[in-house]
Amino acid sequence: MALFFWKDFVDLIFPRNCSLCNRALFDFEPCLCTICAGTLPRANFHLRAKDNELTGKLQGMFPVQRAMAFLRFTKNGKSQTLLHLLKYKNKPELAEELGRLYGLTLSRSGFLDEWDLIVPVPLHLIKKERRGYNQSEQFALGLSRSLAIPAEELLIRTQNTPTQTRKSRLERQSNVEEVFAMKKGKTVRGKRVLLVDDVLTTGATLGACSRVLWAAGAKRVDLATIAAGGH
Ligand SMILES: [Zn+2]
Repeated sequence: MALFFWKDFVDLIFPRNCSLCNRALFDFEPCLCTICAGTLPRANFHLRAKDNELTGKLQGMFPVQRAMAFLRFTKNGKSQTLLHLLKYKNKPELAEELGRLYGLTLSRSGFLDEWDLIVPVPLHLIKKERRGYNQSEQFALGLSRSLAIPAEELLIRTQNTPTQTRKSRLERQSNVEEVFAMKKGKTVRGKRVLLVDDVLTTGATLGACSRVLWAAGAKRVDLATIAAGGH
């Protein structure tokens, strides 16, 4: 009982508000109010995971079988607001909540025994230090909770290689962005991996990470992001 009153007291002093509409939250609402959570611009790509515009677009670049996104990205829409909050407003719990919600949707659609492991796209260490967290990792944690599949950071961003100094500055920059490797001593041999990121724009990062996972023996690599499309 004492704990119950203590929580009411804390809520009174530090009221929690919906990240999108700012309305005061009930105890059972983690980050978003029920109305905002219920009216998110869901992309529903998972309903046709092998045959949707996202998978089609990426298959031109690398041999992915299934690409999905929780939300449809629209400029000035709710999904853009959410991505902005995750990047600049210190909201690790919001990224985790979006993962939890998407995981629930996926499990209700029959995606219960589809993957052995959830792997987030790593963030540059400097960026992670500045932001305090990697939103893709938080999203992976939420998915992990509701799908009951382990999430593990298996990838790292690596340094530029010396041979790249001969390339033009633009080429070098795009290469720097996309150099990934497996962490030492880690393997995904024979595993079905769900690779996750915050937003899918060009697909270059997800392609580069998929190649590393395939080279490390992954049986399958499927993709899921918080938002994609609409640009
Ligand atoms: Zn709200």
